[in-house]
Amino acid sequence: MVLKKGCRIIVSACLLGVCCNYKAEASADYQQRPLFWESVCRNFEVFPVCPEQLGGMPTPRVPAELMAAVGEIIAGNGRVCNREGVDVTDCFLKGGQEVLRLAHLLQVDIAVLKSKSPSCGKKKIYDGTFSGALVNGSGVTAQLLGTAKIKVFDELEFYEACRGTFLEDFSV
Ligand code: SF4
Repeated sequence: MVLKKGCRIIVSACLLGVCCNYKAEASADYQQRPLFWESVCRNFEVFPVCPEQLGGMPTPRVPAELMAAVGEIIAGNGRVCNREGVDVTDCFLKGGQEVLRLAHLLQVDIAVLKSKSPSCGKKKIYDGTFSGALVNGSGVTAQLLGTAKIKVFDELEFYEACRGTFLEDFSV
């Protein structure tokens, strides 16, 4: 996919430096590449979203992981639980649905979502044991967007896709 100047992009807010993750911090990627993300904001129409906050979760919050395959959770047959065992499935589904609604309303071209997150992760997410281990699968929001045929990049895929384009800053 060729990225054009002015593309409309939903971006995980933590990738843009918003302190919205479970520790109330921005993503490590933003801290490593702030100039890249500033350049992205100058060259694309960027809409920051945090599905966990949109789903009603507080910040900071107890981290959560998927306890079943994401398709089962979306179908109502599996749960998302936090590390204390509290069921937060409804917040994850609501947040994902809000992001999907915004993606349609704003007519975005793509989504750039933070890797490994139980909401935003694509291809690999934490495995539900809170041990740091990863499994194949997507987070709830990434899955909902992908099912709706919205192209989802994780931050590294997006970074690679931007190489050689009009973006000015790759000094990392
Ligand atoms: Fe970032 Fe997504 Fe987690 Fe929000 S839900 S902190 S946007 S990875």
